[in-house]
Amino acid sequence: MAMFYIFAIKWVFKDTGKELAIVNGFTFYKHKQMQRTNTWSCTRGSPCNARIIVTNDTTRMVTRKYLIHNHKPPNFIIEDGMYIRI
Ligand SMILES: [Zn+2]
Repeated sequence: MAMFYIFAIKWVFKDTGKELAIVNGFTFYKHKQMQRTNTWSCTRGSPCNARIIVTNDTTRMVTRKYLIHNHKPPNFIIEDGMYIRI
């Protein structure tokens, strides 16, 4: 039997111009930039270790992910591609 795992990232901007990645209702910010990949970490920060590793070319392929959070997702809406915390 095949296993299905739907993994979708939504890319949005905050009003500060900073980009966020949204996965399963949680928000991630670009935390570390490396030569080929960027680490996007949960915006909650420590002690939450959730993160995704994404290639920094235009394909933005996810090469690794750790999506276990120790908190609830933030409350927000997306309007015209903009992240608005509510
Ligand atoms: Zn988190």
